[in-house]
Amino acid sequence: MRASQLFARTLREVPADAEVPSHVLLLRGAFIRPLMSGVFTALPLGLRVMRRIEGIIREEMDASGAQEIRMPIVLPAESWKATGRYEAYGETLFKLTDRHGREMVLGPTHEEVVAPLVAGDFTSYRDLPVTLYQIEWKYRDEFRPRFGLLRGREFLMKDAYSFDRDEEGLHVSYGAMKDAYGRIFDRCGLDHVVVEADPGTIGGGINHEFMAVAGVGEDLYVVCPKGDYLADTEAAMPRPPEPIGDVELEPMVDVHTPGAATIELLAEQLGRPASQMLKLVMFDAGGTVAAALVPGDREVNEAKLERRFFPTVVRRFEDADFATHGLVKGYAGPHGLPKEALVLADHAIAGGANWVTGANAVDHHVTGANVGRDFEVDEYTDLVQIVEGDPCPNCGAPVRIERSIVVGHIFELGTKYSAPLKATFIEEDGTERLFQMGCYGIGISRIMAAVVEQGHDEQGIVWPKAVAPFQVAVILATKDDARAVEEAERIYAELLERGVDVLLDDRDERAGVKFADADLIGYPVQVVVGKRGVGGGTVDLKLRTTGERSQAPLDGAARATLDLLAAAP
Ligand SMILES: [Zn+2]
Repeated sequence: MRASQLFARTLREVPADAEVPSHVLLLRGAFIRPLMSGVFTALPLGLRVMRRIEGIIREEMDASGAQEIRMPIVLPAESWKATGRYEAYGETLFKLTDRHGREMVLGPTHEEVVAPLVAGDFTSYRDLPVTLYQIEWKYRDEFRPRFGLLRGREFLMKDAYSFDRDEEGLHVSYGAMKDAYGRIFDRCGLDHVVVEADPGTIGGGINHEFMAVAGVGEDLYVVCPKGDYLADTEAAMPRPPEPIGDVELEPMVDVHTPGAATIELLAEQLGRPASQMLKLVMFDAGGTVAAALVPGDREVNEAKLERRFFPTVVRRFEDADFATHGLVKGYAGPHGLPKEALVLADHAIAGGANWVTGANAVDHHVTGANVGRDFEVDEYTDLVQIVEGDPCPNCGAPVRIERSIVVGHIFELGTKYSAPLKATFIEEDGTERLFQMGCYGIGISRIMAAVVEQGHDEQGIVWPKAVAPFQVAVILATKDDARAVEEAERIYAELLERGVDVLLDDRDERAGVKFADADLIGYPVQVVVGKRGVGGGTVDLKLRTTGERSQAPLDGAARATLDLLAAAP
């Protein structure tokens, strides 16, 4: 490729709405252009990077035994209603209606398509296992798209689905995919961790997230300094505090607490620590009134509640809900809940006593509230959000919280989707069985952004050679010198002949502009052919990662370039 013909105009200015390095640099380096909020056109350079990532993924998927298919983007809404995800996805699902009034969605994931597909064609246990994958654009109607490719409304993904006879088979398929994912992210040059995760709106049991470590990442994970625990903060379970042991139960007493509508104000007024307050958060779960109880110094992890009720949609009470159920917002206590309310409590509540909580009257609280005597708990579960310094569930050491970008997510779905979609096969004994399914996603456009987040400096992007748009740029520093032009063309031709993915910067631009563009776009190896060097029989080589420069003789330039490329990360 010749830069003089390449559809790529780099930008000197930082685009106004770009907040994170990957967004800024992918725009400036002419990899992508915005069309509307959260939707981008991939330019030739950007598409080349995506194709390289796709190539790595395809190789590893094929090697793992998965087979590529391509499913439609426009999907019928019925199957989404059958699995409950039409509701569960809510506003995030792109919905449309055709001219006949049929409801459809733009696919964010494809369990609803692939399960009936496999059930239709593979009807016997003899056909199993099978894993299918596709590389496809996906859609989410994000409320606030931002960060360029990191939170777009359209994104390129690889999604795979495994089908097994039984759970044992599912574990094997899952393991094969997990291994393949590790190899994919290694080959893409991503510094990543694998963590236990929350299944979110996909549902199911065992699942792992592959997180690219990045300071701008919105996905938080918990890491134990002793190295025995890694988890997404939404899935993480802090070790519950030690039970306080035998204490004398106080009587439950009503206290006047004027204006103390928050835990902080209440703690101050009563001179008791926030950890002794009982925080009660009210939720509506598809019409069920649910109360979540956590200690006053903790937050409710809503992802855990969502999982508890999945696929039923859970939402916090609004002001009107409090009134409807005879509760006083800010002063609700568990002893005053309506009879039908489902009371969930974090494990920490089981170990405490003499709680301070709302008295169900404005400006009133009670002290000495105790489980079993003053109020009941229907279910103890993990409800608190983990925070930095919480004890590790394995060893008790204080955990750290780090930022990352989720680039892959894999799930053991079990029969979560095969059941509502009635996706079955005939087992050896003649009985009809549900498929044990797994699903496996990788964000390709996300990987591209994550690689830039991890690999950039003041000058621009530093691509690992495995995903760089071109591995080598031959930069013709001056077009005024016939000999330099001739040598640059010769080296370019020789590298092409040797199978190198090379670009020749033959534009009518100043050398400084070409050098700046080469660093901005981030070619791993640069070969500079200039008048002075050629006069002395040499070219300059530069490794983008370190900025290290060296010289090579003109007649051995291609060989030296290949050696440098081999050494490049
Ligand atoms: Zn630990």
